[in-house]
Amino acid sequence: MALQYTQCLTKNKTKMPEFQKKTVHIKDPAKVEEIICGLIKGGASKLQVITDFDMTLSRFSNNGKRCPTCHNIIDNCKLVTDECRQKLFLLKEKYYAIEIDPNLTIKEKYPYMVEWYTKSHTLLIEQRLQKDKLAEIVRESDVMLKEGYEPFFDKLNEHNIPVFIFSAGLGDILEEVIRQTGVYHPNVRVVSNFMDFDENGVLKGFKGELIHVYNKHDGALKSTEYFTHLKDNSNIILLGDSLGDLTMADGVPNVENILKIGFLNDKVEELLEKYMDSYDLVLVKDETLDVANSILQKIL
Ligand code: C5P
Ligand code: MG
Repeated sequence: MALQYTQCLTKNKTKMPEFQKKTVHIKDPAKVEEIICGLIKGGASKLQVITDFDMTLSRFSNNGKRCPTCHNIIDNCKLVTDECRQKLFLLKEKYYAIEIDPNLTIKEKYPYMVEWYTKSHTLLIEQRLQKDKLAEIVRESDVMLKEGYEPFFDKLNEHNIPVFIFSAGLGDILEEVIRQTGVYHPNVRVVSNFMDFDENGVLKGFKGELIHVYNKHDGALKSTEYFTHLKDNSNIILLGDSLGDLTMADGVPNVENILKIGFLNDKVEELLEKYMDSYDLVLVKDETLDVANSILQKIL
């Protein structure tokens, strides 16, 4: 066992050039190696992926220009009035600053997130958005998945690895993005805020309990049926960009090895230490899935 472990360490060190990139920050390299060894040993049959969507699978920016979240795809679309767009923009200015504020605790941010979602979702309902227009607004948007998304999704599908996309974005928009990019494979499950439409296909509300940036713990516990069904998939790769994403695997009953990969996109200087304390691997301003893909390459 000990020998196997040493061999595994040596193998990783010499064969993972993606880890040498400047964007990669690791607080405890030995721990990361140990987790990756565990993932490699467990192979495909033990693996599952739990991932955030906005700014994790989708890009934070492209050529210096901010890319939209699921919500922003609607904020920016032609279906909302200019007055509504302005209101949504002001809400984003106020509440996004709170979302990423390095000096506030999650507990302090929590009620503001509820306020943001409640106000912005109410505005969307007032706009009477039509279900059959969503595909078009996604097509016309600037949303982009991270570089390397195709091999990422394709490999996971090829090996039948369950992928749980857990997003505080908008489920209907998210699904449309992954459908249009051709990666909504049968191994992918989406849990998010889904719109509720009336009999004419007009937005009238949202289904289920609100998922916001900092209550993913509660949502994770509501998905116990899904995770219990996957009880043998005790090795997890978790991908997120917010400190709230760290609780996404809280519903998994038996965790053997979990590798937490965090994308740090904004307020890098102020947040790097906190991210390195919480995520095993921190990727600063990385608009690719290269590191995740290189790990998958080793496991699968
Ligand atoms: O997929 P994910 O959980 O990352 O989606 C949540 C993201 O949606 C947050 O990072 C937040 O900034 C963004 N958001 C938004 N507009 C809202 C509410 C949330 O852009 N009205
Ligand atoms: Mg996110």
